[in-house]
Amino acid sequence: MPMQVTSDVLSVRTLIANVVLIGEPGARDWVLVDAGIPYSGAMILRAVRDRFGTELRPRAILLTHGHFDHVGALKQLAARWDVPVYAHERELPHLTGKTAYAPPDPTVGGGLMARLSPLYPRKAIDLGARVRCLPPGGEVPCLPDWRWIHTPGHTDGHVAFFRERDRVLIAGDAFTNVKQESALAVLTQRPEIHGPPMYFTTDWGAAAHSVRRLQALKPAAAVTGHGVPLKGEALARGLLVLAQNVERMAVPDHGMYVHPAES
Ligand SMILES: [Zn+2]
Ligand SMILES: [Zn+2]
Repeated sequence: MPMQVTSDVLSVRTLIANVVLIGEPGARDWVLVDAGIPYSGAMILRAVRDRFGTELRPRAILLTHGHFDHVGALKQLAARWDVPVYAHERELPHLTGKTAYAPPDPTVGGGLMARLSPLYPRKAIDLGARVRCLPPGGEVPCLPDWRWIHTPGHTDGHVAFFRERDRVLIAGDAFTNVKQESALAVLTQRPEIHGPPMYFTTDWGAAAHSVRRLQALKPAAAVTGHGVPLKGEALARGLLVLAQNVERMAVPDHGMYVHPAES
């Protein structure tokens, strides 16, 4: 079920991961953020038709990062629409066939989603010349009101997107609105603010810093890569508690990416 965040921001869930359509209903200009789990192309196209009245192609596709559950339909959609894809330059090796992501750590977080994580694809996809670097100054192509913010930790080139005017944040996996390690929580989508999905996070020091950086923006609404969008007090309170206690709440106390200096 798509969830309206503001009149022009719609979050669409592809089973376990969200994509975002930015554009007023019926608008001719719109942008897609992230591209869902594998085989979610038909579902995303349906949401596009419902939203814009026809299968209109976006001006661009923006990526928070390149994990498999955020780029599942990307090659198919980008080719079908013939549009550019923008990501942080440090994410590009994972999007141009060069470098696989580091292996996930199934021992952290404790849930089924974490234990299954070695099965998740982590090979680089290859978008060739279609993928471009986000401009260095923080401006977002095709979205003049938005800026991108480098939020590394979950991946090196992870970014969030923020609009100052109404303080809407698209956080990707820098934090989540569901306990993504747990299959039960993912199934019920019970809202609860958590750090980045643990099994795929490889730099906990940077991840903690990124959570604090996003909290400092005081977002009024946040769409995350996983979980339902949150707004207002529930978001402000949950994100503040997470930012103040990120080492205790989000960083696992053991695991292949936890080093003694950070634990
Ligand atoms: Zn991720
Ligand atoms: Zn994710």
